[in-house]
Amino acid sequence: MSSQRTKRVVIVGGGIAGLATALAFQARGWDVQVVERAVALREVGAGIQLAPNGMKVLRALGLEQAALERGFLPSALEMRLGPSGFSIFRLPIKTAAHYRWHAPYVHIHRADLIDILAGSLEQRAPGAVRLGTTIEALLPGGKGVQVQGGGSIEADVVIAADGLRSTLREAAFGPQPARFTGMIAWRGTVPAAALEGDAPPPTACVWAGPGRHVVSYFVAKGQLVNFVGVVERRIDNPERLESWRTPGDTQTALDDFMGWHPTVTRMIKSAQGLSQWALFDRPASDRWVSGAMALVGDAAHPMLPTFAQGACQGLEDAWTVAHLVEHTTGQGAGPEPGLHQYAALRQPRTAAIQHRAMRNARDFHHQPGLEQIRAYSALWFGGRFLPWMARGRLDAIYGYDAVAEAEAALQAAVV
Ligand SMILES: Cc1cc2nc3c(=O)[nH]c(=O)nc-3n(C[C@H](O)[C@H](O)[C@H](O)COP(=O)(O)OP(=O)(O)OC[C@H]3O[C@@H](n4cnc5c(N)ncnc54)[C@H](O)[C@@H]3O)c2cc1C
Repeated sequence: MSSQRTKRVVIVGGGIAGLATALAFQARGWDVQVVERAVALREVGAGIQLAPNGMKVLRALGLEQAALERGFLPSALEMRLGPSGFSIFRLPIKTAAHYRWHAPYVHIHRADLIDILAGSLEQRAPGAVRLGTTIEALLPGGKGVQVQGGGSIEADVVIAADGLRSTLREAAFGPQPARFTGMIAWRGTVPAAALEGDAPPPTACVWAGPGRHVVSYFVAKGQLVNFVGVVERRIDNPERLESWRTPGDTQTALDDFMGWHPTVTRMIKSAQGLSQWALFDRPASDRWVSGAMALVGDAAHPMLPTFAQGACQGLEDAWTVAHLVEHTTGQGAGPEPGLHQYAALRQPRTAAIQHRAMRNARDFHHQPGLEQIRAYSALWFGGRFLPWMARGRLDAIYGYDAVAEAEAALQAAVV
């Protein structure tokens, strides 16, 4: 192929990872096409936490300000006991995040984030998103994709951003079923005004309890409170609860958090459109690249929401894959070396975060009494008396700068 012609990338999936990857390639002059099976780009009516590592990618894409304008800056990372509300740990981050990790910690409504990503893609590459189109297979060598119902789309590179149940992952590497984690999640948003004196603190707050936990935080410039309640539960056919559009029953959610702090129960009672979902993940894998195709986001590394890092990792993937592939393609080596460099750089980090998210789930669910005292004493002490040390434990995650790391990988590589 001539290096003069515009290079083409097809991205399957118009979620956070897919749209960000499209923007990252577009910024390097590539012709981008995002293929999405849904007839409209939409996200569930819920919030998302963008930690400083994710915000650094949005900054590089020119979207930090837009996220700040629609988001909410929490005052602290916090952990409380669910039933009593006793504060175990509180780490101020509103200004500390800038100084320590060089970007803000932001809470944003998912619909706002998708709107920002899709809106700027439409501005920079009009018509790049093709909706209502399902991809069913990969062309030989990963040089394109086959559209369900007929036809194919050829490309220099294919990026599979098609989520947990990735079709392209299965097409390239065979079936590897997602595993049910034994947890279901309740999710909803509540108008902050409806909570009156029972509003949660303006923090990223985990309410911990035996076999369950709640996460609360503000989005939409503080007008809405986002609520996630995770409960350990054995259920038959968890696959049936694999859509946030599965409506949840308020009374069942209240039963799950019976006896908990009034802030928690009031959020459940006042939630708009409470929904439930079974949480799945998949063990870390090192099979991300097949020919000219690579996986990004949940297609590559689905993880529990208990570290609030899934989308942030998708954003890091987006920048890294575009940067490395552009380099090797520009050097005349083609995309494959860049795709392999991308996977080698990203896999150890995402596997460690998948593992830490699983560990967090256990840490949030201790039994009251001795077990909680043993687990939370050091946290309590560190948050109060050694906050710099507590922040230090988060440096590897929040301090990571995908832009700098991708560039450093290029400098180190002999391609
Ligand atoms: C309760 C909960 C809370 C969370 N909180 C946070 C948080 O605070 N911070 C954070 O960083 N992460 C969080 N996450 C994780 C985050 O939501 C995900 O990691 C992220 O949304 C995944 O984005 P994605 O683009 O990789 O995949 P998806 O959002 O799943 O997008 C995949 C897209 O591909 C499309 N698609 C699938 N198959 C095909 C096909 N064959 N053809 C065409 N299109 C296809 C789908 O329709 C979909 O639009 C949370 C997750 C949960 C469950």
